[in-house]
Amino acid sequence: GIAVLGSTNMDLVAYVARAPQPGETVTGREFRTVPGGKGANQAVAAARAGADVMMIGAVGDDAYGAQLRSGLEHAGVDTDLLHTAEGPSGTAHIVVDDSGGNAIVVIPGANGTVTSLGPGEMAAIAGADLLLLQLELPLSAVLEGARVAHAQGVRTILTPSPVQPLPDQLFDTIDLLIPNEHEAAALSGHVEPHAAADALLRQVPEVVITLGAKGCLYASRGTEKIHFPAPEVTAVDTTGAGDTFVGTLAVALGEGRSVPEALAWASSAAALCVQKPGASTSMPYRSEIDAA
Ligand code: ADP
Repeated sequence: GIAVLGSTNMDLVAYVARAPQPGETVTGREFRTVPGGKGANQAVAAARAGADVMMIGAVGDDAYGAQLRSGLEHAGVDTDLLHTAEGPSGTAHIVVDDSGGNAIVVIPGANGTVTSLGPGEMAAIAGADLLLLQLELPLSAVLEGARVAHAQGVRTILTPSPVQPLPDQLFDTIDLLIPNEHEAAALSGHVEPHAAADALLRQVPEVVITLGAKGCLYASRGTEKIHFPAPEVTAVDTTGAGDTFVGTLAVALGEGRSVPEALAWASSAAALCVQKPGASTSMPYRSEIDAA
């Protein structure tokens, strides 16, 4: 199975014609609450794509926490190791304006309480085929999870988001790094994806840089880089595309498919996601990915 050590957030989205300036009040058009968090989104993507998925992390003891948990369970994700912490769940306060631009405040809430792992979490990670990690939990927990997985030969995949400088200690335990173009540039100091990939390969054995509508670039030590174009589709909402890509890639790799096969499958899945509005709601089921 796939273990995800990561965040769960409730996204609180306000739709407005124009975002307010400091000190200003504007009347918006619509409000939506949408379950999110990169960890939970990757877990849902992987579960819909047919894998056994376990979510490790924390929600709060508020109403959002209960909603986030039941949303994951509804998607088929095992939440036995998703703790309920005292206090609020993680929230993302998002203002989307008519030009599609957004401004976001993330408050970690319960996610911030996941600073270390207990014996149950460590055993679950050690028993998984694959561990998915992002950077929306405290770095201490990410480091510990990656270290436990690496020591047990469990393949580790890191989405370095939100991007931040990372210790060598973390890179040393990561098998596959999946940054988007902006994160790859920030981590490597190279804007051009091939140069960024070369630099990142000095720290991890395999890298996939996602390039939005341009597809992705795969690089591993000692082989030629491969560029996979994305299917040409009409994008309605690209939210969740990256998490769909990572979650479904993990499923394919966990089933023993080769990296090129897995990348083709994940690209199909992400292209399906961008053709529908929403993040987790637009993630495709296995039969849809296979049909595409
Ligand atoms: P993120 O959303 O994390 O910034 P990207 O924008 O790079 O990541 O998108 C992740 C993946 O989603 C891409 O590698 C691609 O496979 C797919 N994707 C994103 N945008 C499109 C699009 N407009 N058309 C087709 N596929 C897309």
